[in-house]
Amino acid sequence: MIDQFMSPVWNLRTDEYGGSPENCARFPVEIVQAIKSVVGNSMPVIFRISLDHRFPGGRTMEDSLKLLKILEAAGVDAFDVDAGCYETLDYILTKWYTVQLEKLNVDVRLNTAITGDEDILAECDRIIVGCGAVPVMPAIPGIDGENVISVLDAHRDLDRIKGDNIVVCGGGASGLDCALELASEMGRKVTVVEMLPQCGKDVFFINQITLFRKLEESGVTLMTDTKVVAMDESGLTVEGKDGEQKKIAADTIIAAFGMRQDLSVVDKIKEKYHIKTRVVGDSARIGKIGEAVRDGFYAATSL
Ligand SMILES: Cc1cc2nc3c(=O)[nH]c(=O)nc-3n(C[C@H](O)[C@H](O)[C@H](O)COP(=O)(O)OP(=O)(O)OC[C@H]3O[C@@H](n4cnc5c(N)ncnc54)[C@H](O)[C@@H]3O)c2cc1C
Repeated sequence: MIDQFMSPVWNLRTDEYGGSPENCARFPVEIVQAIKSVVGNSMPVIFRISLDHRFPGGRTMEDSLKLLKILEAAGVDAFDVDAGCYETLDYILTKWYTVQLEKLNVDVRLNTAITGDEDILAECDRIIVGCGAVPVMPAIPGIDGENVISVLDAHRDLDRIKGDNIVVCGGGASGLDCALELASEMGRKVTVVEMLPQCGKDVFFINQITLFRKLEESGVTLMTDTKVVAMDESGLTVEGKDGEQKKIAADTIIAAFGMRQDLSVVDKIKEKYHIKTRVVGDSARIGKIGEAVRDGFYAATSL
């Protein structure tokens, strides 16, 4: 929150807490002064700040230097500086992993699909398998149409999202996240179709409030208790709880029915090398990034 005050991209206030660098620094300055008034000069106050947010519109090094001067004058004794922000966490994490892998001489082979028959698997002492998951594509008539793409493809290749009228099938976390991005950042008209009585049941409850508010602000229509029964080039046919069917027009249909394990390679490796194989991440059970990273960590530390 302190960082949000200190960046014009988030701080849109027009009172004395927004606008100029002095105003944007007012909230952290008041915090520093309050701490100083309690601890006095015997205890150093360290302020952690991202010098460069590293995204268009975010705080630059130049902006941050002005803030540092104001904060120093307010009594900060030392700065703990870094770069990036939550918005660029993916970028920072990827960079961090790339550097660590290089430093540790890990042999990374890109564009190489393991089939289970490779000699390296027979020769190595241990195998950790993390082949991830694939989108669930239920046997709904028309799902293989050109206008239907999976939620993963929607993220990977924005050019495949044609037209203004988008219907997202499935109101879980990934469907809602995709719907919000399309409506708020790309100005598309988005409808989410969910067969359960409620959308976002798998969204962490603290995030639900903000997510639903943002979906509403972005004009996303949520249709619950509604099942997708067919798709064609003009849109989809849905069925309500009462069994009544109706058509919804769509230029692009995004299938966000969840993810499933693709165990073909995993099972083959497990079968051939069961004693030395450990399966991690979504290949073990569909979950979240934290669980996959934890699985990998425990697998590595147990070697
Ligand atoms: C649309 C969407 C949004 C999501 N959003 C979030 C979120 O906001 N927060 C969150 O915590 N989680 C989220 N998740 C879940 C999260 O992405 C997964 O839990 C996590 O990526 C699992 O990590 P993993 O390493 O097991 O698999 P993955 O990240 O899928 O990695 C598996 C890798 O294995 C490679 N691979 C597969 N088969 C082979 C083979 N035969 N040979 C060689 N390589 C192979 C794949 O190319 C892939 O790079 C989301 C998932 C989806 C689909």
